[in-house]
Amino acid sequence: MSGAFDVAIVGAGIIGLACARAAARKGLRVVVIDRDAQANGASVRNFGFITVSGQERGATWHRARRTCAIWREVAEEAAIPILQRGLWLTTRRAEALPLLEAFVQTEMGEGCEILSPAAAHARCAALTAKDTQAVLVSSTDIRVDSRTAIPRIAAWLGARFGVEFLRQTTVLSAEPPRLETSRGPVQAGAVIVCPGDDLTGLFAERLARYDLTRCKLQMLRLANPGFRLPGAVMSDLGLLRYAGYSRLPEAAPLRSRLEAEQPGELAHGVHLIAVQNADGSLIVGDSHDYAATPDPFASEHVDQLILGEFAAATGHPAPTVLERWTGTYASAADRTMLIDAPSPGVRIVMITSGSGASTGFAIGEEVIADLFGGSACNGHR
Ligand SMILES: Cc1cc2nc3c(=O)[nH]c(=O)nc-3n(C[C@H](O)[C@H](O)[C@H](O)COP(=O)(O)OP(=O)(O)OC[C@H]3O[C@@H](n4cnc5c(N)ncnc54)[C@H](O)[C@@H]3O)c2cc1C
Repeated sequence: MSGAFDVAIVGAGIIGLACARAAARKGLRVVVIDRDAQANGASVRNFGFITVSGQERGATWHRARRTCAIWREVAEEAAIPILQRGLWLTTRRAEALPLLEAFVQTEMGEGCEILSPAAAHARCAALTAKDTQAVLVSSTDIRVDSRTAIPRIAAWLGARFGVEFLRQTTVLSAEPPRLETSRGPVQAGAVIVCPGDDLTGLFAERLARYDLTRCKLQMLRLANPGFRLPGAVMSDLGLLRYAGYSRLPEAAPLRSRLEAEQPGELAHGVHLIAVQNADGSLIVGDSHDYAATPDPFASEHVDQLILGEFAAATGHPAPTVLERWTGTYASAADRTMLIDAPSPGVRIVMITSGSGASTGFAIGEEVIADLFGGSACNGHR
């Protein structure tokens, strides 16, 4: 460690790294402290799907647009491959079409078009589900492999900006200009706590003011199916999960139909996201079960619901499962994220929805502008 820092960031997930990037670009001296030896939280367990389409209307959608633009810059500078571009949301229910038509009429429909089944098939023969009714194609979304992207961002921040990383170090208290850690004190003028879904650690009394819980998701990696997906693939169930679609009034008939036809999926918050790696393998998920301490067990029943939705949406049987894992994130019913200020030099930043990879870089800029001045440019007023 090299003396005092302008800002110490607790947590080396995507939110801590996003804050570190924004601070380092201002010329600030930055240290990032994490209790794990390498990233192990939600930021490396996710799809790496940086999605604008379907994000909650307003601030979250604007943050996603800004974040996607920053990802493109960072990917270039840090040599992170963008593995997929675009989203194909395939629908099998007639009730989805009026919802898609309403969606593309809003500002959130930027970069989106609706394809008929024939037009979709002409563009991508691999998606062969016979009962496809319409496909929403979005050109705005991108996808990276989080397992490699997150370590690369950390390495790039160190090499490009001199950001220091203190790993295998738990922060025990944070009262600038001093943090107490499991490896001794650290001096910093400001502190940003980005603790993922740790609701009972640092500033637990502040977090208790919010109505927070945790959400467990089940994820799978499947063998190369022998074809390339045209982009990230979602299905009708995603139209109920993503607030940008589900809060439109036209979602009501689709909701009624899915409640009647797929109650098991809805009970476990199952919807489909399928993305593809450079080696052809697929990352497929997910489910949403809520508890203060979710159990760590992946239910085979829930995995089968996810795999069944993959088969129905793509028209192909699910390939062999190569890996299974669970992940957790903090969750709140009334907000997608929170920034809390327990004291003038301290901020807590927590994503309370499954959108941190999609909104984090913009949030990092906002937090640094708030603490150190300047403006964040997510385009939302
Ligand atoms: C399975 C899954 C799929 C998802 N898919 C997507 C997706 O495709 N797109 C998307 O936008 N979002 C997705 N999300 C959500 C997204 O991954 C999260 O919103 C985001 O990763 C949260 O980042 P974070 O930095 O806050 O948390 P984390 O990645 O959990 O990082 C928090 C870090 O803080 C450290 N820490 C906590 N307390 C301390 C302490 N006291 N001292 C030291 N270190 C500490 C932890 O060790 C950890 O490394 C998904 C989430 C999951 C679980």
